[in-house]
Amino acid sequence: MRFETELKDYFDVKYCFLVSSGKAALTLILNALKNLYPDKDQVIIPAFTCYSVPSAIVRAGLKIELCDMDTEKLDFDFGQLSKTINNSLLCIIPAHLFGMPSDIDHLRSILGDNEAVVVEDAAQAMGGKWEGEKLGTFGDVSFFSLGRGKAISTVEGGVILTNRDDIAQNISALLNDASPYHTLEILRLMIEAVSLTLLMRPSLFWFPKALPCLNLGETIYDPNFKIRKMSPFQAGMAKSWKKKISKFQNRRSRNAKAWVNLLKSLKTNELSAVDAYPDSDLIRFPVNVDDPSLRKAILKQSEIKGLGIMPTYPDTINGIEELRNMFAGQEFPVAKKYSQQLITLPVHPFVKKTDIMKITREIRNAIKQTRRI
Ligand SMILES: *Cc1c(COP(=O)(O)O)cnc(C)c1O
Repeated sequence: MRFETELKDYFDVKYCFLVSSGKAALTLILNALKNLYPDKDQVIIPAFTCYSVPSAIVRAGLKIELCDMDTEKLDFDFGQLSKTINNSLLCIIPAHLFGMPSDIDHLRSILGDNEAVVVEDAAQAMGGKWEGEKLGTFGDVSFFSLGRGKAISTVEGGVILTNRDDIAQNISALLNDASPYHTLEILRLMIEAVSLTLLMRPSLFWFPKALPCLNLGETIYDPNFKIRKMSPFQAGMAKSWKKKISKFQNRRSRNAKAWVNLLKSLKTNELSAVDAYPDSDLIRFPVNVDDPSLRKAILKQSEIKGLGIMPTYPDTINGIEELRNMFAGQEFPVAKKYSQQLITLPVHPFVKKTDIMKITREIRNAIKQTRRI
């Protein structure tokens, strides 16, 4: 497929695979690694990340190990990570959450001689860079998501990149056994593509919420998802993706700057940006809100007025009901704090000046009101 060749060129990698989603991509990667290293079964992930990540690990029949987060960077707590590394470790999955780069060079220095594979979760970071190099080219194998709300979207979709022959051969064999999209599934994708185009504005964000089948922005744990080769329909939707990426990046960075300015102008530390790397290409703008009642007030106004401000992952990975037993007695306080305090402001390309003004006004009001109580 043309999309595949273009991706290989752009990222300058040897192998590229197009699949049905980011979690399908991750599952294929993990199954390939399982074949290559049959005596290893542990997978380290951040304790605060997308629920699709543990879903894929469970689907692949591997063991999840959690690592707490850095207090400022939405990255691993590297001190804790270094204590978790052992010889049963199959791989580590650093994630560029919201597009904020995870420091993979640091991760490799900690790994040292350990032969654990670095699987780069660049699901939210297609087109982003870290010290001049493209995100998605740091791992031994990497994946992007083309799902809803990601840097660019084909409704659903996933991309795997690697330079390693052994990993690529395994993934290729696994993917040959996967069935293609059924006609009905493609039809559903087409309907969703049309609805999403119509609803992609924050001023209309209440609408998808009212339609349970759309589940926009929701994060769920569910290891039962389809693993398919990407359909030509999806690859078609990715047409002119390079142009789109740079256009979207410009608009997102303009919107992110508006939020930086808003936070400055508030003259309060009740709301603080998580901006370890101010130049990163964010797909949502994460803000820490210390006061739970203020956070609640902001999210409530957003829901009523359709502002597109969202909570992030509702709990840490060990807080997911189906997984709780695996982590009995373990605590990840920094990750917990992120799950309880973060909200994200929209920066997507369809955010307009009037949306920014409306959100600014509502946040100011929420601050005034919670102070009065
Ligand atoms: C979205 C996402 C995934 C999974 O991608 P899907 O295409 O939704 O399956 C994995 N990791 C992170 C960090 C994500 O944001």
